[in-house]
Amino acid sequence: MHARAPYTEEVHRLSFGLTLGGILTDAGLGGSEQQQVLAAFREQFNPRRLRAGTEIRIRTRPDRELVERIEVGLNRDSTIFLARGAGGRWNSAVTVLPTTVDTVYASGEITSTLWEAVMTDPVLAAMPRGDRTNFIDRLDRVFQWRVDFTRAIRVGDTYRFAFEREKRPNGSMRSGSLLAAELVNDGKPWYAIWFDPNGDGRGTWYDEEGESVRRAFLMRPIAFSRISSRFTMSRFHPILRTWRAHRGVDYAADAGTPVEVTADGVVARRGWSDTYGRVIDVNHANGFLTRYAHLSDFAGGIGVGTRVTQGQVIGYVGMTGLATGPHLHYEMHRRGNRVDPLSIELPADDPVPADDLDRWLLESEARLALLERLPGAQTLPSVRADE
Ligand SMILES: [Zn+2]
Repeated sequence: MHARAPYTEEVHRLSFGLTLGGILTDAGLGGSEQQQVLAAFREQFNPRRLRAGTEIRIRTRPDRELVERIEVGLNRDSTIFLARGAGGRWNSAVTVLPTTVDTVYASGEITSTLWEAVMTDPVLAAMPRGDRTNFIDRLDRVFQWRVDFTRAIRVGDTYRFAFEREKRPNGSMRSGSLLAAELVNDGKPWYAIWFDPNGDGRGTWYDEEGESVRRAFLMRPIAFSRISSRFTMSRFHPILRTWRAHRGVDYAADAGTPVEVTADGVVARRGWSDTYGRVIDVNHANGFLTRYAHLSDFAGGIGVGTRVTQGQVIGYVGMTGLATGPHLHYEMHRRGNRVDPLSIELPADDPVPADDLDRWLLESEARLALLERLPGAQTLPSVRADE
């Protein structure tokens, strides 16, 4: 018996201008063999869709100077394996890390901020920081229209939530969804209950009355941001040094912070103005337009005519145009007039569709009941649906 010669392994990374084909050429795979490898790869994934930074491991048998095996890491969870088979034919397979699904239950009292309460919750303490941030982000996203987390939270407010989580073998969260949540703000309970009317995974959250908790527009285009200047008909302009109207809202944020479009729509402008710097305008239903100014950069794939969906990142905070520091200047127009996005009554999303009321009653009762395993001062409401 003789020992197998060890493999040597080289790790490469795709970068701008360096394709999978280029890496294979560097590894000594010429013409027809390279075509075979790429054909085997294409059975799993389109090589043109590989992103810069993708890791490629190439194993060679030094005794035969032959590439035997290639691994391409598509993302954290999926890897494509390519192996030389009998007769020099290349085969491919994809492996996906197995995940498990469980439900996280948490509840607590807020003594300073929701952020502080969830981050220091002893039940959640063992979880990666990023996962806890994710919980707060989801709570903020579903309750943003009901409770202003930066201004309205009081000491003694409480929260309860049940969160379904898909976990990797190392315990980190791959994906998750908020099933049910309660936030008691100044004695008043607010509910958000997940329901998917069409069963296509694109459901949303409703309150106990079956009304959507969402509005057609997000409350703010940047998560966890601070308002630095409100809509006013008259303020002293720091650069122009005159009193002018400020008919928009400014959000202070670090340069490079992602800016999210506040509602579904179509990009109407992506350009430059001396005042606004890099600016994007988006047209929405019912005569609304939103404007995002002083951007440092536009997100990839955003151009005039691009369809965008609520929460999609369209650009990044900067200080282009007339700006003293990095911030986002956000405007809302309705039928050509600028309106205050913080005080306008935002159109509501649709309630639970009439055809789905039976399933809503059943599923929402079950989801709300998940909160019952948690301590909380409130008696849970019974779910209702108006016919
Ligand atoms: Zn402004």
